[in-house]
Amino acid sequence: MTDFVKEVEKLMQIPEGYCKACGKCCEIGTARGCLTYDELLKVANNETNAPYNIVNSANDFLATFVPFETIDEARKVNSHFVDMILKTTNKNENEVTFFHCRYLKKDKKCQIYEDRPTFCRKYPAVDERTFFFEGCGLEKVIKENIKKVADIINYLEQKEKNNG
Ligand code: SF4
Ligand code: SF4
Repeated sequence: MTDFVKEVEKLMQIPEGYCKACGKCCEIGTARGCLTYDELLKVANNETNAPYNIVNSANDFLATFVPFETIDEARKVNSHFVDMILKTTNKNENEVTFFHCRYLKKDKKCQIYEDRPTFCRKYPAVDERTFFFEGCGLEKVIKENIKKVADIINYLEQKEKNNG
């Protein structure tokens, strides 16, 4: 059993050596819940009933990301992402704000890479809900690892049934 746990733990880590440093995941993003900038500010300023950890993460997000001035500016960067967010959230253009990172340099490198925030270190998560930007070097390997984890769980469940 321990070997399986170790294997699953390993598969759940972000694989090293696959990121192409293309900067697409830093060029555009949305806040958790795809809130508007005003809604996010209210959360960050503790003007809602959001719990402490959500207030903190709203502040962390705003310390790193700045809103695009218009949705057209966001579309110029990645119209596929804008359309995908609007479609999946069923929101209109005024109900979501798109952001870009203040630390992304023109050459697509991170100005603060060694000190980048935790949420940058945790992207892309090994999770079925993760959105991958077009051409992301991690998409294939992470999807394979999610499948391997599911196979291990299925195998263990089947084994338990057979033993039971
Ligand atoms: S801080 Fe660095 S790694 Fe994080 S989004 Fe900005 S440019 Fe990307
Ligand atoms: S989109 Fe993928 S390959 Fe590109 S910088 Fe982000 S994690 Fe790396």
